[in-house]
Amino acid sequence: MHPLDPIFKPQSIAVVGASRRPGSIGREVLHNLIEYDFHGKVFPVNPKADFIHSIKAFPTVASIPDPVDVAVIVVPRQEVLASVDDCAGRGVKGLVVITAGFAETGEEGLKFEKQLLEKVNQYGMRMIGPNCVGVINTDPEIRMDATFAPALPLEGRIGFMSQSGALGVVILNMARELDIGFSYFVSMGNKANTSGNDLLLYWEDDPLTDLILMYLESIGNPRRFMQIARRITKRKPIVLVKAGRTGAGARAASSHTGALVARQGLDVATDALLDQCGVIRVNTVKELFDLALAFSKNPIPRGNRLGILTNAGGPAIMATDAATSMGLEVGKLSERAAAELRKLLPPEAALANPVDMTPKASPRTFAACARLLLEDEAIDSLLVIFVPPMMVSPTDVVAGIDELRREFTKPVLGVIMATEDAFDELNEKQPGHLAIYHFPEPAVQALATMERHRHWRERPVGEVRRFPAEREAARELLETARARGEVHLSAPDAFRLLECYGIPVARSAAAATLAELEAQAKRFHFPVVLKAIAPGLVHKTEAGGVAVDIRTIDELMAAARRMSEAIGDHAVTVPSVTETTATTATAPPASSSPVTFLIQEYVRGGREVIVGMTQDPSFGPLVMFGLGGIYVETVKDVTFRVPPLTDVDAKEMIRQIRGYRLLEGVRGEPPIDFEALAVILERFSQMVEDLPQMAEVEVNPLMAFPEARAFCAVDARVSLPIGG
Ligand code: ADP
Ligand code: MG
Repeated sequence: MHPLDPIFKPQSIAVVGASRRPGSIGREVLHNLIEYDFHGKVFPVNPKADFIHSIKAFPTVASIPDPVDVAVIVVPRQEVLASVDDCAGRGVKGLVVITAGFAETGEEGLKFEKQLLEKVNQYGMRMIGPNCVGVINTDPEIRMDATFAPALPLEGRIGFMSQSGALGVVILNMARELDIGFSYFVSMGNKANTSGNDLLLYWEDDPLTDLILMYLESIGNPRRFMQIARRITKRKPIVLVKAGRTGAGARAASSHTGALVARQGLDVATDALLDQCGVIRVNTVKELFDLALAFSKNPIPRGNRLGILTNAGGPAIMATDAATSMGLEVGKLSERAAAELRKLLPPEAALANPVDMTPKASPRTFAACARLLLEDEAIDSLLVIFVPPMMVSPTDVVAGIDELRREFTKPVLGVIMATEDAFDELNEKQPGHLAIYHFPEPAVQALATMERHRHWRERPVGEVRRFPAEREAARELLETARARGEVHLSAPDAFRLLECYGIPVARSAAAATLAELEAQAKRFHFPVVLKAIAPGLVHKTEAGGVAVDIRTIDELMAAARRMSEAIGDHAVTVPSVTETTATTATAPPASSSPVTFLIQEYVRGGREVIVGMTQDPSFGPLVMFGLGGIYVETVKDVTFRVPPLTDVDAKEMIRQIRGYRLLEGVRGEPPIDFEALAVILERFSQMVEDLPQMAEVEVNPLMAFPEARAFCAVDARVSLPIGG
């Protein structure tokens, strides 16, 4: 037996705090249990009443003569703990705590919640809530509506969990109107004991649940969520409304990676995470329903070719436009289908896809033409558009299509552009009808989402590969810098760190003085590159701190002198989050210039990309890849992933940026070595996973080439947490 079974599949329920007062939660919960016809026993518990709602009541749970599986608790907050003790005395294994006033209310409530949780754990119980609306299981063998929501649920195959109670109730209401049924409904409340992840696991193998809908405000353990969701979405789609689109954005950022996270806005972290585990994210409850309809009533399409059948031209054009812009194809029908359609339709009908039957089309014509389209090998899914002319009822058209669609394993969606009463009639006379939308766009959008989901399912998961690395040496580099109170690794140390993980770097050497620079230069072949290094100097180019393609020693020394002057003042005036700490902690003695030099081999002809990492406050590290160079923040062509990256993730990241074409080579250039680039991303991901003590890393640019061995990083920055 699963530990959550006593809550979701109980034989007997105690309603602790059941009440006689109509409109009170204690009365509504009891009423719903009875009204929805719970298959087992229900015991009202209330010390002040002999019977409630015509049912014998008990003063305590302990005094109930029969075993009790789950207690629904609706007593005032100050009585909750005592109720839990009472339940424990009767061997209750599951709690649904509806009572509010816990962590959601602040300090004091949080204390109560901790005490509650301690008790629950101590007794080995499981709990939903506190501060929730309750739970529903529509399984005909169970039929439990332990909520105080006014609408009774329809039976269906959707598991729905909501972090917001109010929204959960609204969704239950609307679902009824839309003819959407649920297997489970869970209002999670404060998620003190049972999290969204727990419910996902519970539904993973539940035979009555095919589709999972979630309304979440926070993902408690994102990494665990990713592991679980990644597996489940291969079999059961998960659609999520994640409210509270904020996150790393508000943080001050000193690297391009951080700044790009801030600017791309909102929560790239959540988007990246959900993308990586195949979870479909929507922004509104309306979109949630649009998708719930499509997914719950249809198989996943086998391809992207859409057939459109209509009795009006305009909406079909809208549908075609929407389809094309969302990556679906409104392709040619087969010869056979076209020939058969000609026999069925009047001469003024349009026989190409979209097939416009004209307003004369009867329900019979609709069904006959729909059959031809569904039989056609050139069509993967079908959209039926109906604008009711007088005398033809939508219900008849839908009934005809409904009968037909069960013969096929292709999705069929309907668009009916009619008034509300037409839908009321339809729901009443044709329950369980196909997914119907009021306008073409949301229907097409739903199909496009299903098609993307097919890609996700078919996509190989890939594997997280481990490469040989000098993990200890890398740790030591970071530890030494931290012990010295530094917030950045020195340039040579940053390069060294990359090398520990097999990420190739350009040959370079540091020089503290002009004399040292001159000596170092002898060990390099010209042309070389000169860079200034100074505390607080984040972006060297802006400060005149990069000189490339230097041909002679004289040029080199002249460039170095220019840089000293340019940067001398600049370095200490560059405003940066980390600067003050950096200057006080690592500034050389006041007598010497703060500027030192880095001489580097000149790397010609590479295509510049960026690889970065930044920490998201709730998600942990995020890896970024994109087009690099000094214009990254202007071009903003980047993509994010939550590490660890699989080999498939790495390749996908590369393909996902707009500048992919540039890497493939334009105007006669050969493509870069994508395999080599993917391996560098994987190695980078491994480094990020191994070294959680890094706050930010940025390799920009990494020079990419058609030859794997030519790849090298020419600029790297590694930051440690401030005060860490
Ligand atoms: P910053 O990012 O601090 O401005 P970089 O070291 O990234 O400084 O240099 C800026 C630009 O100079 C790079 O994007 C690249 O175009 C060029 N560059 C830097 N180092 C080299 C090098 N070793 N070989 C060729 N080009 C380089
Ligand atoms: Mg750079």
